[in-house]
Amino acid sequence: MDCIFCKIVAGSVPSFKVYEDTAALAFMDINPLAEGHTLVIPKQHGANLWEIGEDSLRDTVAAARTVALGMKTALGLDSLNLVQANGPWALQSVNHLHFHLVPRRENDGVPLDWGLSPGNRDQIKAVADRIAAALQAGP
Ligand code: AMP
Ligand code: ZN
Repeated sequence: MDCIFCKIVAGSVPSFKVYEDTAALAFMDINPLAEGHTLVIPKQHGANLWEIGEDSLRDTVAAARTVALGMKTALGLDSLNLVQANGPWALQSVNHLHFHLVPRRENDGVPLDWGLSPGNRDQIKAVADRIAAALQAGP
């Protein structure tokens, strides 16, 4: 499979690795949104949140927490965003699940602020009902 992150796991493409365990790998993003921007991926290929196996996801989230704790200490952070994209309209550019750990600092200008504007409560409830019904019906 022609997957750049699988190649990083295999070691055939270089990376700035910061953490590895049996299930997950963390390395620096080469187009950092902020200094210290790190990616955490499952070693097992899964394109996105819908396709990854539950065990692999659990292990990858645990690794993300471990790495976030290391970043907190190493970089003196009190703020960090965990970002994850699924599909083209979410701007996923690498189809191997990955969590972005983005260090945040006061007035850093990182473009992740979507503001808060209240939605229509009836519409919110109608969508909630559709999602809940789908979940009740099962996969
Ligand atoms: P996304 O847009 O959420 O799919 O993010 C993919 C991320 O992978 C981007 O932030 C890229 O900068 C990063 N990326 C792509 N190729 C590499 C690579 N070879 N090493 C490190 N980061 C990469
Ligand atoms: Zn892959």
